Amino acid sequence: MKSLDQYLCDAEQAHGHLCAGQVLGVRLAMLGLHKLGIDDPHGKDRKRLVTFVEIDRCATDAVAVVTGCRLGKRALKFRDWGKVAATFVDVNSGRAIRVAAKESSKARAREMHPEIADKNQQQMLAYREMSDEELFATLWVKVDLPPEEFPGYKGERVVCEACGEGINFRKEVRRDGKVLCRACAGESYFQHIAE
Ligand SMILES: [Zn+2]
Ligand SMILES: [Zn+2]
Repeated sequence: MKSLDQYLCDAEQAHGHLCAGQVLGVRLAMLGLHKLGIDDPHGKDRKRLVTFVEIDRCATDAVAVVTGCRLGKRALKFRDWGKVAATFVDVNSGRAIRVAAKESSKARAREMHPEIADKNQQQMLAYREMSDEELFATLWVKVDLPPEEFPGYKGERVVCEACGEGINFRKEVRRDGKVLCRACAGESYFQHIAE
């Protein structure tokens, strides 16, 4: 593992700026990996880890930097729950730990550094200084990962009977004997507009 400062340097480059979320995310990921005994996530342990993140904010970028887990490698999973939390799965042992930032950490940062008016600066410093126990709650968990969720899985493709677009196997919806993509099944996030 690199040091906190080294990871913060990497995170700043990847994310575009250094912020309280980067400090939180780096520490959150370092704690998760430490608990799992994974110390070389970019080297010898690089195929050992799948990470679930629960928010799409600053901290998530930092988690990706420390773990090396990326969406495009299927090693980073996004669950849009709006929580500063992540679950680290050791796919070799099946052990998994969820680490969540405590809601009390913001108030604790105010207590620790009332002299710093800027919230981001205040939290950046306090989140470096707080103990893991003050910052995070951890929980050993079990995560069911079907084969198609693993990095490197090559699955077959099926075709949506309504729009004709290809879909990875098991991502389709089967309804009334038809194979549909999620958009055609009514779960779409977009609406078609006339040009
Ligand atoms: Zn940020
Ligand atoms: Zn479709």
